[in-house]
Amino acid sequence: MNSGGRPTRPVAAGSNPPQTVSGSKALNQVQKLIFEIGTPRRTGVDLPEPKGTESRLGSMERKGDIGLPGLSEPETLRHYIRLSQKNYAIDLGVYPLGSCTMKHNPRLNEKMARLQGLADVHPLQPESTVQGALELIHELAHWITTLTGMPTVAMSPKAGAHGELCGMMAIRARLDADGESKRRRVLVPESAHGTNPATAVRCGFSVDEIPGTDQGCIHMETLREKLVHGDDIAGIMLTNPNTCGLFERDVIEIADLIHKTGGYFYCDGANFNALVGRVRPGDLGIDAMHLNLHKTFSTPHGGGGPGSGPTVLSEALKDYAPVPFVVKDGESYRLIEDADNRSFGRMCAFHGQMGMFIRALTYMMSHGADGLKQATEDAVLNANYIQASLSDVMTPAFGGLCMHEALFDDRFLRDTGIETLDFAKAMIDEGYHPMTMYFPMVVHGAMLIEPTESESREELDRFITSMRSLAERAGSGDVENFKAAPIHAPLRRLDETRAARNPILRWKPPDEPPKAAKQA
Ligand SMILES: *Cc1c(COP(=O)(O)O)cnc(C)c1O
Repeated sequence: MNSGGRPTRPVAAGSNPPQTVSGSKALNQVQKLIFEIGTPRRTGVDLPEPKGTESRLGSMERKGDIGLPGLSEPETLRHYIRLSQKNYAIDLGVYPLGSCTMKHNPRLNEKMARLQGLADVHPLQPESTVQGALELIHELAHWITTLTGMPTVAMSPKAGAHGELCGMMAIRARLDADGESKRRRVLVPESAHGTNPATAVRCGFSVDEIPGTDQGCIHMETLREKLVHGDDIAGIMLTNPNTCGLFERDVIEIADLIHKTGGYFYCDGANFNALVGRVRPGDLGIDAMHLNLHKTFSTPHGGGGPGSGPTVLSEALKDYAPVPFVVKDGESYRLIEDADNRSFGRMCAFHGQMGMFIRALTYMMSHGADGLKQATEDAVLNANYIQASLSDVMTPAFGGLCMHEALFDDRFLRDTGIETLDFAKAMIDEGYHPMTMYFPMVVHGAMLIEPTESESREELDRFITSMRSLAERAGSGDVENFKAAPIHAPLRRLDETRAARNPILRWKPPDEPPKAAKQA
């Protein structure tokens, strides 16, 4: 049954799933790697032999086969369709990955993004021919600055982490312009997303960690202490709602304190979907914050992209924003491409992720201001519904209400021999993508569930029923099945230790035995 030579866990003792000759399981077809099914000489196209062309490659001409898999068009299609059927997707079911905001991508967004006049624009077209596209960027920027209550937004960052880089580079540029280059320390709560400290370090800052309280929020006493000798503090990077899914109630005091010290307040806005229409970051004293259009405003994400991380900047930082940006001149739009002496420069070749801009603006305009607020409220309601419905069988990490995601720890698994990982794998058998595991790291065996506003009451109830039954099965000591899970998935549990220790990252033809990647 082991189709591709990948390690699988043995089937649990006592269970005896029927085998098939093909290895396929009903509609779930066994599929080898594309290199293993192709025949080098086969091709899906029929082109005439080129005549009268002489190779100019000389000795550089390839002698052997190019080594691409040769498949006909139906074979190619089947290959990718079969693979796609092994995927989980937001269009298949609940995708409760906390911190990732896997909400429904409305099809209207897709329709707008495919309009010929938008889909086919090229970033190097003359300005006069892309007035509509520039107007769209300008309009989206207007929605973003209105929703956040901030004076300006840099549109070009292409992901959340890229937006962090934009904000921290603006802070650094401002500090340097003010002759404050000794300010190189950035305070980061220990619950922060890993991209926060990484960004700070990338910008030449050092990271000073602030612990959390046992209520899941930032430890204010420690923060105040650190600020006493704050001459070298560049700023703070704080997420609100934080990665425990909780609103940092002291946020205004934090902003005041950091400003008094002479530093700036970066807010990681990846969780803005819990605030839209309810709280304006500008009112909280924030200096810079990225938005993840691909989380909050429903543009598709996963598999590494594409993302879009527009970054709002305060009065203090707005002159340091990157180029290019769009300005409205009378009735027309212009792109400012050249940095004046204050802009910190350019983050990427062009203006940002146009396709994501179109989708996000479509989402905003089709919801309207009232609909965006409702989406926020529904997202928070759904998360609290899940937390309340599971709190007697699982263990919420903190008491009280949550924001847009519900955080559980592994206390309910204590002494069962079952771990967070086993529990998550068992969710696959129930037909669900697991929740975020082991993050935030401040909680033992964390399970972070973010349902988003997309899920109906009925869908949430089905999810809760599965989760409750898993929690009860775990409690009754069903260790063996949890350790063997997933049992019904096309591939069983991978040997994660071996995969990490001995990663095989490239397919090699059978006569070339695969070599392990070099260990660092
Ligand atoms: C998703 C996320 C990020 C990073 O965003 P990317 O678009 O993946 O770079 C940063 N911080 C938090 C809290 C996030 O949830």
